[in-house]
Amino acid sequence: MTAPAAGYELVPLDCPTCGAAVAARGEDVVYYCTACRNGYSFDPEGRSLSPVEVAFVTAPNVAVDSYLPFWTLRGRVKLHERKASGASFSGLMSFFLGDGDAPGLGPGEGTFVVPAFHCRLGALTTLTRAYTLSSLELGERLGERLLGGRYGVDDARKLAHYALIASEVGKPDTLRHLRYEIAFGEARLLGVPFVRDGGRLTDAVLQTTTIDEPRS
Ligand SMILES: [Zn+2]
Repeated sequence: MTAPAAGYELVPLDCPTCGAAVAARGEDVVYYCTACRNGYSFDPEGRSLSPVEVAFVTAPNVAVDSYLPFWTLRGRVKLHERKASGASFSGLMSFFLGDGDAPGLGPGEGTFVVPAFHCRLGALTTLTRAYTLSSLELGERLGERLLGGRYGVDDARKLAHYALIASEVGKPDTLRHLRYEIAFGEARLLGVPFVRDGGRLTDAVLQTTTIDEPRS
């Protein structure tokens, strides 16, 4: 049962915890119940909803128009081999492999922050890099919708790999060979605030990029 609305489809869905209707779009695979404030991820193999921890980024003094879903992926990056003609890492690699480890984190450990919604690859890389590098202040779960989350955890992991490499290439330093691995840990949903200007959205806290409003 789907009902067309404003260019995309709304799929009726009941919250597994409280039974309230959960807003979702046709291609969404992550859901957030604004009634009981629990998150879920659709498991395509089991064709069922699995609970996911949810947090929201706080945006004090900002009139937020919309919150978009991101994944936070705990990860440990291990470098096996690198051949390049030039300086060392300066992007996400240096963040994960740098010696400035945050308290409580082991070598190579950190948290990737990856959009769960569809946007241009350039914007996706920019957002992933900016929000992974920043120390975000997390607040309580809000009664705000998180719509447009088309990417599940597996997709988010691929995007984390992509962003890791994309943040290192495109520099004068020529990366000829790189062998590394990421061991992924816990995945959570993160609501990130955006402000609307015309039909476009800009992330409210870091103000790194403007995207078309995701529709799925
Ligand atoms: Zn609920």
